[in-house]
Amino acid sequence: MKLPKDTRRYCPYCKKHTKQTVTTAKQKSRSATHPLSRWSTSRAKKRSYRSGYGNLGRFSKPAVKDRKRKTKITKRISVLYKCVECGKMKGIKKAIRASRIEIGEKISK
Ligand SMILES: [Zn+2]
Repeated sequence: MKLPKDTRRYCPYCKKHTKQTVTTAKQKSRSATHPLSRWSTSRAKKRSYRSGYGNLGRFSKPAVKDRKRKTKITKRISVLYKCVECGKMKGIKKAIRASRIEIGEKISK
């Protein structure tokens, strides 16, 4: 998917249409986006399943990866618009599902 480098868009902070540059948000790791999901170490620690010191062979096991084929080949890429006048960023409500997004010359996957 191709996007222009900068567009004219409504800025809710300036309350008018301004020139805005287009960027994409950096992909976060799963532990950063879902810090208290099931089987995460931080969740287990929060629920006090773990006390004392040492690992006791419980939290260093690798995750089970029995699925070989990746079902989804596209990712949700959230696009951010930065206002040139006030410098504030605003993302769009729904992230775009695409394998890659080209902004001008820059390609983000
Ligand atoms: Zn603005």
